[in-house]
Amino acid sequence: MSGGDMAKPLLGHRSVEGDPMAPAAGRTIGVLGSGDFARSLAIRLVCSGFKVVVGSRNPKRKAGLFPSAAEVTFQAEAVKKTDVIFVAVFREHYSTLCDLADVLAGKILVDVSNNTEINHHKESNAEYLASLFPACTVVKGFNVVSAWTLQSGARDGNKQVLICSNNQEAKRTVAEIAQVMGFTPVDMGCMSAACEIENIPLRLLPAWKIPIFLALGLFLCFFTYNLVRQVIHPYIREQKNKFYKIPIEVVNTTLPCVAYVMLSLVYLPGVLAACSQLYYGTKYRRFPDWLDQWLQHRKQIGLLSFFCAALHAVYSLCLPMRRSHRYQLIETAVKQAVEKKMNIWVEEEVWRMEIYISVGIIALGLLSLLAITSLPSIANSLNWREFSFIQSTLGFIALVISTLHTLTYGWSRAFDENQYKFYLPPTYTLTLLVPCTVILAKVIFSLPCIQQRLLRIRRGWEKGRYVKFVLPSATGEYSSGETSSNV
Ligand code: NAP
Repeated sequence: MSGGDMAKPLLGHRSVEGDPMAPAAGRTIGVLGSGDFARSLAIRLVCSGFKVVVGSRNPKRKAGLFPSAAEVTFQAEAVKKTDVIFVAVFREHYSTLCDLADVLAGKILVDVSNNTEINHHKESNAEYLASLFPACTVVKGFNVVSAWTLQSGARDGNKQVLICSNNQEAKRTVAEIAQVMGFTPVDMGCMSAACEIENIPLRLLPAWKIPIFLALGLFLCFFTYNLVRQVIHPYIREQKNKFYKIPIEVVNTTLPCVAYVMLSLVYLPGVLAACSQLYYGTKYRRFPDWLDQWLQHRKQIGLLSFFCAALHAVYSLCLPMRRSHRYQLIETAVKQAVEKKMNIWVEEEVWRMEIYISVGIIALGLLSLLAITSLPSIANSLNWREFSFIQSTLGFIALVISTLHTLTYGWSRAFDENQYKFYLPPTYTLTLLVPCTVILAKVIFSLPCIQQRLLRIRRGWEKGRYVKFVLPSATGEYSSGETSSNV
């Protein structure tokens, strides 16, 4: 971006009467430090219509790095010209700013710093800064935004700016500045939240850890099982070298197992929760922690299931491209020519394959829909009923169709004793266990007597209590009444 471009405000100076942003835009903002973050912040502030004054230990050397509209001067000079100062300096160097304590008194300091480790220090950086400058008001904020996001503007990257402070007025001022810059300020409360805010950029996919380990664990188990059946067994029993199957065939028989079981694990905690509610006759009893955690991770488990299913589809499409496949085809053709076999058409096999592929495509299509609607931007455009219909009803239909896909793949193999390598049943029979349990449970829950009881419990009815309840009748009309626990 040229200096001229940088000087031009992107959002323009807002001076419309009644515009809540008007007092923020146009004011002078100070930045202490001249590093990557300070530079990107200055660019974004200038582009958003603010006047910027940068405080550096060496202003002459650093001035060329900033847009021409920003004033670069000595730290003390910069601080005198503004009431809001972003401290774009590492925590380790805060103490070197103590000489500025007098000029900083009464001003707002915005602590943008991050640590290198989670809970690195006893107190947060913002609390440490506040202890060094007791006459200032410290606001924690902007640390979750990278220098790159600042430079490219809030169009790309994370738009949220988490803010906390013990002073409401100072927090409001910083939130207004963030809003004018195109970010979404999120009030995280008082200064004690600073530690949590500082830990956020250091966390690596916190919500994904358990689902990823679960997927890897399942992958490892099924991969080993398939390896034994498809590679080790022929090698030991018939001295056949089938190791070439490992990169594609074994992986491709493992992926759908993981996808299918993971999909059923999205719906299993709901079934367990319903069982617990039916057993205790209340919805007010807390679920055990493990079930709570499991319920909270359903979205990630579902997305990983979709990921494995998509990989399985790609692998399957590539199967005919393999050299081994071509050699096998030619070998079979030659054998048939030698044996003078003309008709190799097996009607049952043809039908099995047609149905197997068709239901597989439908299942993948439904999983894609579930994955797309779980994206926050799409989910936000749906009302609760639409979201629940897609995630719950269509999701369950996807599980049923995936079960059909698995059954058509297995066909009658479970009854063929040659399929029991080392007495191990075919893999697909193992994968059916959890999904079929979930489907069976859902069918049982849909029986009118159980469905009615669950519905009442979910509307507040409790075993052993008289509660006034209102239920829709079969005709859709609502009826109310008193009921006792044992109805
Ligand atoms: P940087 O490039 O190393 O800049 C740090 C600046 O601190 C220097 O340019 C220096 O400017 C100033 N400073 C003041 N006193 C100093 C001293 N005694 N010793 C050394 N430098 C001193 O670091 P940065 O990437 O801009 O990060 C600055 C702060 O922003 C850090 O707290 C960081 O955690 C936070 N942050 C950075 C990012 C990012 O993407 N970079 C994202 C979020 C938060 P002068 O020489 O001009 O005084």
